[in-house]
Amino acid sequence: MNRTSPMMEQYKKIKEQHPDKLLMFQVGDFYELFFGDAELGAREMEIALTSRGIDNENPIPLAGVPIHAADTYLNKLLAKGFKVVICDQVENSSQATGLVRREITRILTPGTITDPEMLDEGRNNYLMVILRSQEEKYGLAALDISTGDFRVTEFKGDDSYDLILDEIRRLQPSEILCSSSDLEKSLRTTLNAFNSALIETLPVIPDIKETEELIKKHWNNNIWEALSLDSYPLAASAGAAALIYLELLQQLPPAVNHFHNIELYFSKKNMIIDSITNRNLELTQSLRTGGRQGSLLGLSDRCMTGMGRRLLKRWIDQPLLDKSQIEERFDAVEELVGKPIPRKNLRKKLDDIFDLERFCSRLTYQRINARDLVALKNTIRLIRPLKDILSELNAPKLKNINVNLPPFEDLALKIESALVSDPPMTIKEGGLFREGYHEEVDRLNKLSSDSGNLLLEYEQNERRRTGIKTLKVGYNRNFGYFMEITKTNLNYVPPDYNRKQTLVNAERFTTEYLQQMEEQVTGARDKLAQLEYKLFEELRNHVLSFAEDLLDAAYQVALLDVIQGLAETAENHHYCRPEFSENREMIIKQARHPVVEQLACERFVPNDLIMNNRHFLLLITGPNMAGKSTYIRSAALIAIMAQIGSFVPAESALMPLFDRVFARVGASDDLSSGHSTFMVEMQETAVILKEATIDSLVILDEIGRGTSTYDGMSIARGVIEYICNKVKAKTLFSTHYHELTRLEGELSGVRNYTMAVKEKGKEVIFLRQIVPGKADKSYGINVARLAGVPPEVLFRAEAYLFELELAASTAAEQQLSLLPMVSEPLSDHRFELELIEQIREIDLNRLTPLEAMQKLFELQNRLLADDNKLDIDKEGK
Ligand code: ADP
Ligand code: MG
Repeated sequence: MNRTSPMMEQYKKIKEQHPDKLLMFQVGDFYELFFGDAELGAREMEIALTSRGIDNENPIPLAGVPIHAADTYLNKLLAKGFKVVICDQVENSSQATGLVRREITRILTPGTITDPEMLDEGRNNYLMVILRSQEEKYGLAALDISTGDFRVTEFKGDDSYDLILDEIRRLQPSEILCSSSDLEKSLRTTLNAFNSALIETLPVIPDIKETEELIKKHWNNNIWEALSLDSYPLAASAGAAALIYLELLQQLPPAVNHFHNIELYFSKKNMIIDSITNRNLELTQSLRTGGRQGSLLGLSDRCMTGMGRRLLKRWIDQPLLDKSQIEERFDAVEELVGKPIPRKNLRKKLDDIFDLERFCSRLTYQRINARDLVALKNTIRLIRPLKDILSELNAPKLKNINVNLPPFEDLALKIESALVSDPPMTIKEGGLFREGYHEEVDRLNKLSSDSGNLLLEYEQNERRRTGIKTLKVGYNRNFGYFMEITKTNLNYVPPDYNRKQTLVNAERFTTEYLQQMEEQVTGARDKLAQLEYKLFEELRNHVLSFAEDLLDAAYQVALLDVIQGLAETAENHHYCRPEFSENREMIIKQARHPVVEQLACERFVPNDLIMNNRHFLLLITGPNMAGKSTYIRSAALIAIMAQIGSFVPAESALMPLFDRVFARVGASDDLSSGHSTFMVEMQETAVILKEATIDSLVILDEIGRGTSTYDGMSIARGVIEYICNKVKAKTLFSTHYHELTRLEGELSGVRNYTMAVKEKGKEVIFLRQIVPGKADKSYGINVARLAGVPPEVLFRAEAYLFELELAASTAAEQQLSLLPMVSEPLSDHRFELELIEQIREIDLNRLTPLEAMQKLFELQNRLLADDNKLDIDKEGK
């Protein structure tokens, strides 16, 4: 027999419309998932899978989550890239005749979340649309509906696909929609490991006419001409496709002004930082943990608000190219560095400011309650004191913020006079408005409170009349008002009481009077709830008319927050204000690595850096762990920080304005992408050779490491020659191929530097000091010793090294001597091996503790004697 319950019929109808999403279907206090959704949902949310009822003779798989805890589960699903349809009961089950009406109330996808509980405060949540034309041009739209940020751009030319990848890496969208399944497939394969975005093909792509209509309708008629979108049809279509997608999800903002601006942006205005550079320099993410801690962003972030945090990340992702803009930021930071008291006061106020930007988004989506409005009022009440502090400051950028930040005093007053200071979460049950705000609200309120008094009076009277002293008037949701009488007093109950409910020790009754009261009170309460809801909507719409101004204010606050944060970091870590040179000169005195200096356990040793048109490629040798990578990265970080507008970790810094900064690291283990490490290394290097200019800064850390020595060294040499002869970019090249140092003198532009080390016996001490010249040996074995590699391995290694060295010196042709000199003659180790042999032969079971001590004493003495002999040998030489 084929039987499907009416509710299942209803379920199936709704599910049919959204086969690709998980449907959460309200049944009472639960959201339930059925059939395949239940199986998938149970697995992904880690909840129990059960079954309920029968459908076509089969049990129906079921998984459910309580509604009050649904957010946690929704987060899990969205974070895993699922889309979820929420279907709610839209009428009270007690009012419904037959089946309860249910409707889709929300469609949630990772890229369209507005609920602040589900969002990371520190970063934008982008939905991205990517269109590819037949001519391999790309259009891109990125929008954050939780903040109203909406931007479009276009890429053409050979490297457009790479630029798209860089944009994805930079904006980290949580959802990407592509124009074709081909594009979807290639993005999936290129992005796989480091990106968890949901990638899909667009359901609809508008043609150009439709695009123009949509964009004009959503913003205004002028926008098309104002942005010359005729010339950027792909960018415009990507934007329009995003709007269509939102509409399909019922997520198109009801208020047109939500995306208050559509920004046509080009990365040309900003310094491009490709994703590999971002990763290698750990600009926004630590390589080790993947989090922001340990990255430049984590270090610089002293922002007090989420808005500031998000803006800072955008700044770091896109350093400036325009000197005057940078200097403007410096001026503002400098003033706040020099004025700790206003800075501290600003920080205190900013700390209490809530996320105005995300509030505006929820406001336009009408997802705010009275509490949010009270929070808004508290926040705008802080603007006046912010302005007071700003008015004492002189930097043009800070003055500008003051000018552009209205105090919204009337709005605050309006909200304050309307709402109680601690309104309930729900806006449908009254209790929102202050006394004196609205006459009818006051009257209805009085009615309920009066009835309270009347009931008290009634209780007194009834006690007197019946003689039952413990008689009580009570209220509960199911039965309304009742009279409660304990079992011992039941004999005295008058006949006009009607029994309603029996408890263990008491019975509950009702009377005609109580019923009358109840009708009056519930009537008043219902009326009040309805009226207050209506008044709340009016108030919300009033606030909505300020949405655009509030969003502008949010930006000004974010700006202020970023600037004060940079000032705070600059002062705490003793940074300096950089200067820009006109002649491509770079002179940094006492440069430090901003992150390593905070994390390192030893004292950080600062170093100078000098480059100019004559010496622009520094070749840095030195043993492993000496500090080469740290040194060259600190130069790149200082350059980037400067162009963000931040002060830098140095005593003084003069540098050119760089057009790009590149950072490549040899043989980074990129197993995830499936390329061999060497292949990756070469692809990455090739990009630099093509794109770097004389105005770029290039960091190459042990390029050539990923292949055999001869190969690696030859490639490294080729790269250096090319940069010196053709590109002439400022380059810091670290290498463990000391043989490359002979290029100094052969190639103009190259200068040798090395990280100084000191030897003490077999120990090597890293001085962390950069000095002109070259390292003459690799100290690899010394470093291995430091790292605790077992002595036997070290001895074997040294023996091999010795043999290799012998072979090399006898080889007829020694163009590039690959093998560094060994410092100690091999014979030394015979003695140590002998000691080890002795230790091995000791039979501990037969030794008394005293004998053991003696043995140890003897061994140590022999060792010490030998050390002395070595030292004397050295001095004698
Ligand atoms: P290399 O690239 O030469 O192998 P690294 O730059 O990776 O060496 O440095 C190794 C470690 O030495 C770093 O992790 C850091 O802790 C420390 N270090 C590097 N440079 C300095 C410095 N200037 N002052 C103090 N410690 C440093
Ligand atoms: Mg290194």
